[in-house]
Amino acid sequence: VQSDGAYLQVRDLTVTFDEFRAVDGVDLTLYQGDLRFLIGPNGAGKTTVVDAITGLVPATGSIDKSGQPVLGVKTHKRARMGIGRTFQTASVFEDLTVEQNLDIAAGAGRGLLTLLRRRKGREAAVAEALETIGLEDLAQTRAGVLAHGQKQWLEIGMLLVQDAEVMLLDEPVAGMGAEERQATGELLQRIAKDRTVVVVEHDMEFMRAFATTVTVLAAGKVLAEGTVAEIQADPRVQEVYLGT
Ligand code: ADP
Repeated sequence: VQSDGAYLQVRDLTVTFDEFRAVDGVDLTLYQGDLRFLIGPNGAGKTTVVDAITGLVPATGSIDKSGQPVLGVKTHKRARMGIGRTFQTASVFEDLTVEQNLDIAAGAGRGLLTLLRRRKGREAAVAEALETIGLEDLAQTRAGVLAHGQKQWLEIGMLLVQDAEVMLLDEPVAGMGAEERQATGELLQRIAKDRTVVVVEHDMEFMRAFATTVTVLAAGKVLAEGTVAEIQADPRVQEVYLGT
């Protein structure tokens, strides 16, 4: 079953640890332009869904990226299919400059695009990413001395130069102050215009401000899905949040 124009289509995704179904039959369809928040109580299965999409844990069901099957494809090849993620703790090369980090990521990008880019415009891609993430003035700065928020933006930039069309971000604003949160939200809105961004998040205020759609997980299943207003009005959602 293929939905037209879906970047990522997840069907009946199930992840089992021993006998325990951490993810239990999850369906998820993500379109270009989605800034999708994945929320739910601790242990709901949010991180495991992201791990299954990126190949860190084995899963059953099906995942399609632009119509191509994803399950069974090795983790590093999923990055080449345009699926990228960040972790809660930004993983950048601390001893390299901001620009060098982006350049390395650009080299690790998707096969054909990377080849084309070697000939023309890998530098341009890096310059464009620097502008998008707002770190142009820090291009020659060692990544290790960046502020926490700036490291997160650099990591997002590294996904941009890899042409990740599906970006999965694990609590991107954890540990950020109000101004950095606002800047991050606006960055994600810009980025999501021509791709799909999935944000695993605990911060409800951040979700209210920036989500276009929300999927609520509870006990490994999709409890509700919709706009922020729809989610907030849903008594089942109120129940799981009051119950924790
Ligand atoms: P969330 O991100 O929503 O907090 P997780 O996806 O981290 O939830 O976890 C979902 C459930 O799966 C939890 O009950 C957790 O304890 C369990 N779990 C996650 N990873 C493993 C693992 N590697 N082995 C066993 N159980 C796990």
